[in-house]
Amino acid sequence: MSQEASETPNQLRVAIIGGGLGGLLLYQGLSKNSRFSVTIYERDASLSARNQGYVLGINPDGYQALASAISQSDLDTLFKGSDTMTFLMVDHQLNVLMKIVGSPGYGRSVSVERWALRQMLAKGAPIEWGKKYDHYEELPDGGIRAYFEDGTSITADILVGADGSRSKVRAQRCPNLVVEDVHITSIAATVGTDVLDKAPTIRTLLDQGCIRVLGKEGKTLLILPYVAEPRPDAPSDVVTGKRVVWALSFPTPTSELSETLSDPAKTIEYAVQCCQSGFPSNPDIAQLISLTAPSDVIFTPRGLFSTVPPKGNPLETGPLSVILLGDAAHAMTTHRGMGANTAFQDASDLAAALQADGDIKEAIKQYNEKMMQRGIKAVKASKQSTDMIHAQGTFSGVRNWMLWGIGGIMKVSQKLTGK
Ligand SMILES: Cc1cc2nc3c(=O)[nH]c(=O)nc-3n(C[C@H](O)[C@H](O)[C@H](O)COP(=O)(O)OP(=O)(O)OC[C@H]3O[C@@H](n4cnc5c(N)ncnc54)[C@H](O)[C@@H]3O)c2cc1C
Repeated sequence: MSQEASETPNQLRVAIIGGGLGGLLLYQGLSKNSRFSVTIYERDASLSARNQGYVLGINPDGYQALASAISQSDLDTLFKGSDTMTFLMVDHQLNVLMKIVGSPGYGRSVSVERWALRQMLAKGAPIEWGKKYDHYEELPDGGIRAYFEDGTSITADILVGADGSRSKVRAQRCPNLVVEDVHITSIAATVGTDVLDKAPTIRTLLDQGCIRVLGKEGKTLLILPYVAEPRPDAPSDVVTGKRVVWALSFPTPTSELSETLSDPAKTIEYAVQCCQSGFPSNPDIAQLISLTAPSDVIFTPRGLFSTVPPKGNPLETGPLSVILLGDAAHAMTTHRGMGANTAFQDASDLAAALQADGDIKEAIKQYNEKMMQRGIKAVKASKQSTDMIHAQGTFSGVRNWMLWGIGGIMKVSQKLTGK
């Protein structure tokens, strides 16, 4: 069965695969232009089918990209009460080494509730839910036919792969652009703020900002405060109110962890053990992790992936009408908080390229060039951060000394300049 992506002649039919952050922003960027008929095809059953995490750090580039398609009043509502993010880098005994104001991405960033952001981006979007894309075919008239796992297909003039780090669109469009497992595993959960009564040092540090604990054996723990407004449409497992999110990551390949770790209770047990060696003799961290309820696990062990930087631009060949954006083009590790910010810039640039006067093919070529350069730069920066925070042995000692030294210089400079 084949469906057409547009019913109106002369419109450019744009099919977006993936209703994640980047795909939704692209829709918003094109939605006011009647030249386009846009449909999003998303594998999830609904917007609230899956809890995708809690907080996102939006940097100035990401904010500007959002502002290209979202009204100022919607942005003001979304970011109301958001604070500039501050990160404290601390050693395994919670001694502060460095304070960074404005990370992630190392610009002045603000935190936003991920669910609220995605809900706002999905406003009015024509999303076909439960459509798991499989592959595409180039048609003789220059169009593209996309096939779904349910046996249906659609035709479009432009197919956008916004289907995340394991993109099937990318796998066919440029098979040489590959994503590798970086052999770091991550676990995340939330706890109620009452747990902080038993972790007073963490409470004091959280008053100043988010905490990145640099542990032994390459283990690291991110702890951040979080307030989730009750929202009627949110996924049922999103816990609301004042919470603390923690994310533990460690250099053990996920493949080495037994399958039973998809069990949240076993995940907590594993995390407790992991912290005993990673953050020895720290009662606060032990309390924080051991008092986490299995029902509050956001994700059980999952591996981190990163695009292997390609030689040249792999999008130089192949059909220009099949376009990538976000993680589909450049998957990156999470430790610099740049993935969504980069996907937003891609979506904003692609919306501008498709609407520009002149030759659309030339505009897509220029988009491909700019998007890949920016994306791969972010991939490399993110990987550097991942390597730095998971450093082991002598390297971890040198890293801590360096952070402490730089932190000291920054403190003095802030005092002198008043910034
Ligand atoms: C814990 C965590 C914290 C993070 N924190 C930050 C942060 O602070 N700042 C930041 O900038 N980034 C952060 N990121 C990264 C950020 O979430 C991603 O980079 C961003 O979501 C990428 O957007 P995207 O649209 O490219 O892909 P996604 O948001 O992953 O969307 C892809 C969509 O495609 C759908 N899909 C996949 N396959 C198919 C298919 N075959 N058919 C149909 N649909 C499909 C998926 O269901 C999904 O909805 C974080 C990531 C994690 C995991």
